[in-house]
Amino acid sequence: MVDMDKIVSLCKRRGFIFQSSEIYGGLGSAWDYGPLGVEFKNNVKRLWWRDNVHLRDDMVGLDAAITMHPKVWEASGHLASFSDPFTGCADCGRHYRADQIIDAIWNSRWFRAFNKMLEGPAAKKDIQKAVENWIQGEGKKPQGTFVNFDNVLQSMRKKLPFGIAQIGKSFRNEITPGNFTFRTREFEQMEIEFFVVPGTDEEWHQRWIDERFVWYEKYGIRKENIRLREHEKDELAHYAKRCVDIEYLFPMGWSELEGIANRTDYDLKQHSQYSGKALEYFDEETKQKLVPYVIEPAAGADRSALAFLVDAYHEEEVRGEKRVVLKLHRDLAPVKIAVLPLLKKNDRIVETAKKRCADLRKRWYAVYDDTASIGRLYRRQDEVGTPFCVTVDVQTVGDDKSPADEKFTIRDRDTMEQVRVSMASLESIMDELMAGKWAEVAQVHGIKKD
Ligand code: ATP
Repeated sequence: MVDMDKIVSLCKRRGFIFQSSEIYGGLGSAWDYGPLGVEFKNNVKRLWWRDNVHLRDDMVGLDAAITMHPKVWEASGHLASFSDPFTGCADCGRHYRADQIIDAIWNSRWFRAFNKMLEGPAAKKDIQKAVENWIQGEGKKPQGTFVNFDNVLQSMRKKLPFGIAQIGKSFRNEITPGNFTFRTREFEQMEIEFFVVPGTDEEWHQRWIDERFVWYEKYGIRKENIRLREHEKDELAHYAKRCVDIEYLFPMGWSELEGIANRTDYDLKQHSQYSGKALEYFDEETKQKLVPYVIEPAAGADRSALAFLVDAYHEEEVRGEKRVVLKLHRDLAPVKIAVLPLLKKNDRIVETAKKRCADLRKRWYAVYDDTASIGRLYRRQDEVGTPFCVTVDVQTVGDDKSPADEKFTIRDRDTMEQVRVSMASLESIMDELMAGKWAEVAQVHGIKKD
């Protein structure tokens, strides 16, 4: 298992993740995603959304505001826990009264400027509530789903069972943030609230546990590095009937990657009671109203991204030299194709490489790079997990070759094998390669010998 320092160092060196406010000495609990990191994390979120929303007919999406009516937090039980007025500072160990912290933030210069944009006492109350939520660390997305249950039901004409998916920022007052992006105070969650007929909840819960487990394997997590952990009865939240974590073998040991809980009908009933609006479902078959049970698979975008990175990290020895390679699943890789000219002083090679890169970019995220020798360029792309490199050489352009006669070399990241293909078939071959068919392509076109 790779140690975390290597991951942190690669992430900084190659533009994946930087420490927040680094030039000011850094902020330990916050991280910024760099140019490749943002592509990578967007891919994690996009694949989660595609697989859980677009590829299912029993799921819709939602993007609810974190700032909500104060009563929402009362109903959800968050405000009750907020009445504990003390909050501890993890760095200095001192305790502060939560309302004093709110005052301090409220009176800060930045916040006063912000206030000016939102005048009036009502706005002040809303912002104050948002700050309270932040301090309490419960900028929770699921509540937005529950309070929109009826809106979604009515507007989308959904029938049970169906789910609502959200991706969004969460804030938590973690006392011990750490282990890189594993535990931070600001992070992103990918959550589903799946509504089912009571009585079918246990079966649906199990289905979701199985589905979510397989999802991580589908995108490259090795079987031996992932497991399920059943919550003990005394660990369960008071409203939860059962909860199972998907755990990953992170460098610091087995830790939670995703939690999948059966939340029963608790949330909908609470919001019905506090809002006075019945959050029910009318079952056409039985002609009866019912309050659905909820299965909640809650994953972290940052934690998933970290697990994918850790699992993809490989060090190998190639011809006596160390090769670091991120064997990321193609769909997760931040850059899909790197187009590399073999001779950067040859104008025709450079021009052809740039032109083909621009063509490929219309379909896949491709980059052009001529800032080093080919060996170093390959190593760089291996380290960031680029599945394919396309090289352009003297034979590609020849003396007077027309584009139709151009031939390119495609190199596979994992096997380091190369095939030579014509310009006309470049895009269709890329289609095959993006579908994971390197072996088939190599068989048809023959492996190129160095
Ligand atoms: P933990 O036990 O690690 O504190 P949790 O059980 O409180 O997590 P949930 O409330 O179930 O977490 O949140 C769902 C998911 O959100 C977690 O499985 C994790 O992937 C992610 N997550 C939770 N807290 C953090 C955090 N502080 N930093 C990064 N990701 C987090």
